[in-house]
Amino acid sequence: MTSGLNIGVVGAGIVGVSTAEWLRRDGHNVTLFDRVKPGSTEQTSYGNAGLLARTAVIPASVPGILRHVPSMLFDKDGPLFLKWSYLPKLMPWLIPFLRNGRESRVREIAAALDTILGDSVDQHFALAKGTAAETLIETGNYAYIYKDRKGFEKDAFGFAIRREHGAEWEEWDRDALLEQDPNLSEDAGFAVALKDHGWIRDPGAYTAALLDAFRAGGGVFRLGEVSDIAPGAERPLITAGGETIAFDHIVVASGVWSRRMAERLGHKVPLEAERGYHMMFKNPSHKPSIPYMMADAKFAVTPMDGGLRCAGLIEFGGIDAPASDAPLEIFERRIKRIYPSLTWDSTESWMGRRPSTPDSLPLIGHSTKAKGVWFAFGAQHVGLTSGPKTGRLVADMIAGRTPNMDMTPFATDRFDRA
Ligand SMILES: Cc1cc2nc3c(=O)[nH]c(=O)nc-3n(C[C@H](O)[C@H](O)[C@H](O)COP(=O)(O)OP(=O)(O)OC[C@H]3O[C@@H](n4cnc5c(N)ncnc54)[C@H](O)[C@@H]3O)c2cc1C
Repeated sequence: MTSGLNIGVVGAGIVGVSTAEWLRRDGHNVTLFDRVKPGSTEQTSYGNAGLLARTAVIPASVPGILRHVPSMLFDKDGPLFLKWSYLPKLMPWLIPFLRNGRESRVREIAAALDTILGDSVDQHFALAKGTAAETLIETGNYAYIYKDRKGFEKDAFGFAIRREHGAEWEEWDRDALLEQDPNLSEDAGFAVALKDHGWIRDPGAYTAALLDAFRAGGGVFRLGEVSDIAPGAERPLITAGGETIAFDHIVVASGVWSRRMAERLGHKVPLEAERGYHMMFKNPSHKPSIPYMMADAKFAVTPMDGGLRCAGLIEFGGIDAPASDAPLEIFERRIKRIYPSLTWDSTESWMGRRPSTPDSLPLIGHSTKAKGVWFAFGAQHVGLTSGPKTGRLVADMIAGRTPNMDMTPFATDRFDRA
């Protein structure tokens, strides 16, 4: 194995920090760049639902999705939002996204996602072990909450595929649910409790704690905008703070902002911001003991250190548009429907940008256009879950260790070839 290389990692969200730390453990001199400090609200890794969703292999685009779009979009409690003026810009992403919803393709995507999600709880422990981040990991069931069994039966397609990939669950009727959580209203009549999952009690603090471990081990963090990356004559270059530095390798792990850098190198990457929201109910009168997915409303309810966090929903409107009010209002209305007696002191609201590709798979691997440049971005709804494994895969490949899985679905040039 080669060690002692100089490696620059651009982006210090969960993917970049994980990648930097695995590279550091391989004996490289690693410099991690970000314009914000890990744990800042600007990062998608700050405000997610915190789920280590190791069985979340079903992409957002599934058979019959077109039929459901109008109700998802126009129902005032629906989970989908669109800034209509953005629609023309969205089309080049949306059309292949919808095409990927056919059954055969969903099965292929699920199989690929399973290779980066299946062992994710172990991957988080392997990365966080012995650091303050480890204390923020919880393990247990993750329950999909339905009004009744019929709701679950409508999701049979997805659960059958999950089962093929090893998911195990218990089915809880209302009595069993009330035994777990007596505060639930009649809106919660049935649940599927997926076994052996995990969650992070404070995702922002988790990324920050991993950064602390990286720095304590000798890694370097540079705060500031990376204004350019370039192939360079012999070695790839990063320009930051007016200085251009040559590295043996560069890893682009800049979340949804990676698109511009990939395009700068000549790649076509249809990366879109699938915007999502959270509302943190601080000092709530009660919290569930495990995370829930409100199956019809499509948001998670996670017990966190800061309170009870509702997180999810999808809005298309580009990276830079300001946050909207409507998704946040849904959280307040819907949480009262399952927890009618819930009270809280105050709320914190947040909007983040899932880095999403039309095939719901990240780009992980070597750039085919620029020697020494690697990609690690695009993990859409499951970037927290898959971050540590993604980092490990990149470190393996840089070290010349062949990953024990098929990397083809994550190829960095697949959209160039499309
Ligand atoms: C509402 C919501 C709920 C979610 N829930 C879950 C969940 O429960 N489980 C799960 O697995 N995933 C979840 N996700 C998805 C997950 O949060 C993301 O996939 C993941 O955080 C992406 O991590 P990242 O490191 O790629 O990106 P980010 O965390 O966005 O980090 C990218 C970093 O790159 C930096 N950067 C970009 N450009 C530059 C530049 N030019 N110079 C310097 N720095 C730069 C940014 O400042 C940023 O810090 C959720 C997402 C949302 C929005």
